[in-house]
Amino acid sequence: MTRVSFSDLRTAAYCPRKLYYVRREERREPPPEVDAVRDLAFRYEELLETEDEALANEPIALPPATYRARLERTRTRLEEHDRWTALCHPSERDHLTTGRHCRGVVHKVLADPLEPALVSPGRPPDRGVWEPHTVHAVAAAKALAWEHETPVETAWLEYPAYGAIRRLELTTRRKARYRRALRAVRELDGPPARTRNREKCASCSYAGECGVRTRTLRSLLGFG
Ligand code: SF4
Repeated sequence: MTRVSFSDLRTAAYCPRKLYYVRREERREPPPEVDAVRDLAFRYEELLETEDEALANEPIALPPATYRARLERTRTRLEEHDRWTALCHPSERDHLTTGRHCRGVVHKVLADPLEPALVSPGRPPDRGVWEPHTVHAVAAAKALAWEHETPVETAWLEYPAYGAIRRLELTTRRKARYRRALRAVRELDGPPARTRNREKCASCSYAGECGVRTRTLRSLLGFG
């Protein structure tokens, strides 16, 4: 059986219909800015020592002092869990892993215990991780577990432009979301129904093609 890519799973978790549109287009490489932001996740220790003026030239999304304070809090929290060093010095970087059902690149592989860490160039939610990232993280953990023939029960999501690192456990509910997304990818045959969560449509680049009328940010805030 063909293995599903992590990116297809992530898109299907956002909206299966979006995956239909993405598949009709030619795959494009991510812009270089994405690589620059992802690279921050491999430079945390250096960034903590960087002066404000130099830090302002990095692709961070917060003012330098706020960024450093956020990253310091992240370091303290992760040192308490004994994972800061592992996240700064992973045993492997950009590892292509192939599991039983899916395959893709894991940005960091941590050892003892074996865990995947995925690096997002975007903004984190207020708490936890975005649903497509949850599905991606479960997929990465399952693929690594298959490859190493060892259970993997946790994963990390990093949002380095915001100095945020989030841990997630592979709970029953998260695994169910992963299975739903996997099914959606495999069953994709013609355009699926539109998502009922129209807030997703507001930031979807296929809204025009999809024929969804999106509300503006102003109206979402109650001014429209
Ligand atoms: S506009 Fe909405 S329904 Fe249409 S593909 Fe995008 S997220 Fe899905």
